[in-house]
Amino acid sequence: MKNEQFLKDFNSFIQSKGFVYGPFPEIYGGVAGFYAYGPLGKLLKNKVENSVRRIFFSNGFRELECPTVLPDIVWEASGHLNTFKEKIVECSKCKSIFRADKLIEESSDVETAVMKEKEVLEFIKKNKIKCPGCKSDFKDELKTYSLMMKTEVAGKPFSLRPETATATYLPFERLNEFFRKLPFAVFQIGKAYRNEISPRQHLIRCREFTQAEAQMFIDPKEKNNWEKYEAIKNEKLPLYTSHHQEKQLKVENISLELAIKHNHIKSKAYAWCLYLAYRQFVSMGIPEERMRIRQHLQHERAFYADDAWDIEVNLNSFGWTECCGVHDRTDYDLKKHAEFSKKSLEATRENGEKYIPHILEIAFGTDRPVFALMDLFYEKKDEKEGKSIFKVPYHIAPADVAVFPLMKKDKLPDFADKVKALLERDFIVDYDETGSIGRRYLRAAEAGTPYCITIDYGSLKDDDCTIRDRDSEKQIRIKTKDLNNILKHLLAGENLSKFGTFIN
Ligand SMILES: [Zn+2]
Repeated sequence: MKNEQFLKDFNSFIQSKGFVYGPFPEIYGGVAGFYAYGPLGKLLKNKVENSVRRIFFSNGFRELECPTVLPDIVWEASGHLNTFKEKIVECSKCKSIFRADKLIEESSDVETAVMKEKEVLEFIKKNKIKCPGCKSDFKDELKTYSLMMKTEVAGKPFSLRPETATATYLPFERLNEFFRKLPFAVFQIGKAYRNEISPRQHLIRCREFTQAEAQMFIDPKEKNNWEKYEAIKNEKLPLYTSHHQEKQLKVENISLELAIKHNHIKSKAYAWCLYLAYRQFVSMGIPEERMRIRQHLQHERAFYADDAWDIEVNLNSFGWTECCGVHDRTDYDLKKHAEFSKKSLEATRENGEKYIPHILEIAFGTDRPVFALMDLFYEKKDEKEGKSIFKVPYHIAPADVAVFPLMKKDKLPDFADKVKALLERDFIVDYDETGSIGRRYLRAAEAGTPYCITIDYGSLKDDDCTIRDRDSEKQIRIKTKDLNNILKHLLAGENLSKFGTFIN
């Protein structure tokens, strides 16, 4: 299978080049669903997270950081303790457990969402579905398995948060005081934990992962009176509505105004959130032709969601993959937490009326975008030339620039050090002084570094250096004093030829 070969090459590339290691901890055999970011992977993830912060901030969102471990009453209120569960079957021989719905879906086209427990067991028996591990039969029993990771604090039951969203709702009164009026929006970038049953999709499904979730608190009466919508209503998004899916139509670029007119999207505020979510992924460098925004069919929606759409990215490894969800959670969360905490989680309108705010959520993580960038921009080793390349968009590349002294002698490294210090004021700088210059260019291309700067004997005399572009492999000579300024322009998308004549 093409996909399997791709995954094999890809995996060996990201491990050996220092992007992602795992399953972690490798020396103890590794546990599925846990990964570590190596030096390049962590830089890439930082770039992705910085992009997320920049976009949310410039749209008026503010960032919070809440605890990742919370008492179980919170999860009782949120509904997670009761509903965040999967039905599993156990192998009668090797005792491995599997999600019943996934087993069925992997062996047939049957839709499991509407099946009753009895039907699930009967289906597995009748179709002779065996344990994928040891090929034995399953026990004739459907068990319930909680996805919550449990712990204990001061002798009381606590759980690790399975999402950042819930933790964001808890300080509602404080936030309401801080922002003084609704609507307001906050987000968290932080870890969440899910006891996934048998995760096999690398960073796409982890047991510990980083979420980036934004919550907008809004008066339900304001949902269709949303000023920011006017500026973006003519923007076209690749919408894959439930109507399109049911009629087996293709994805269409539809303007938000039309989508609202045809009732695909219910409110202007929701449409704006969908647009913002899409901008997040475009800003990270995910190509637009690889994205679609798919509306959930009725049976797919989470228990709290009134409307839900996912941004999906078409990966080389796993095909269309959910990378972001936009949900109208209505007043579900604040109502529940008001009930369980016995606090009034209400806001007040100008006329003194009290009401429970609605919540619009943009929920994604930063692991999937990092995986998507690696998956989409990794180009396999050219057998003849022996080089792989990571053609990630320049603005999101792990390191911005690499500095090479041509030789490890004659004061070239000292000069290169100075150039490096100068660049480090503004950029993430890599430094490499071993091997031939050609080898070093190759290594930089594998790391995705957009520009390489070489210090040679001419540099010592004229206080200049060469700068080489990753994709065109062209170079020009520039004064070191202009370096930071020119590099800023280059990383913003300007062409190298604007700053000098190509040499070689
Ligand atoms: Zn088995």
